[in-house]
Amino acid sequence: MNEIACTLCDVPLRNATDTFGEWNYPMCWDCYAGLVGENEETWYGLAPHHHDLTITGSVIGSTVFDPLPERGVNGEYDLGDRTFMPDPEAPGCGVWTRKIMAGWR
Ligand SMILES: [Zn+2]
Repeated sequence: MNEIACTLCDVPLRNATDTFGEWNYPMCWDCYAGLVGENEETWYGLAPHHHDLTITGSVIGSTVFDPLPERGVNGEYDLGDRTFMPDPEAPGCGVWTRKIMAGWR
């Protein structure tokens, strides 16, 4: 029931030290590292949201999308330390990019 697999390559994961990415977007290290550039981190996931646990009492079904700022000229939403580029083929999903310090690994 709790078996998970890499979102990108489907390799089985134990949700332990072999598991990276976000809780709802698990990835193996190879895929995760492949998405990480030298100075930025990029991943595919849900649009800006939070979890309102008062809706269902659990994380499942609790997703509430957050209001987005004005869209940038390149189509991205600038959310401070990260940007979000919506996927035109998958409403509610898109590509995140986070600026992080070099040498974080
Ligand atoms: Zn993988």
